[in-house]
Amino acid sequence: MECISCSAGLDHCHGTLVLHTDDVVECTEPGCRDFDRIRHTLTITCADVDGGCHCTAELVVEEYAHAS
Ligand SMILES: [Zn+2]
Ligand SMILES: [Zn+2]
Ligand SMILES: [Zn+2]
Repeated sequence: MECISCSAGLDHCHGTLVLHTDDVVECTEPGCRDFDRIRHTLTITCADVDGGCHCTAELVVEEYAHAS
């Protein structure tokens, strides 16, 4: 895969960076070890993940607990 960053020789990743609500960051690229947002062209929150994520459900429960 070739992109602008590839041809420029920049350190970057073609995976999608997934930001979880508990500050855990994941990348869809198996070999990716540097989860800097700058290295990723695509960044989503886990709320945008198809089928949702376990931690979005937990966050809702937590917010209800704080509100009461
Ligand atoms: Zn590239
Ligand atoms: Zn999550
Ligand atoms: Zn990555």
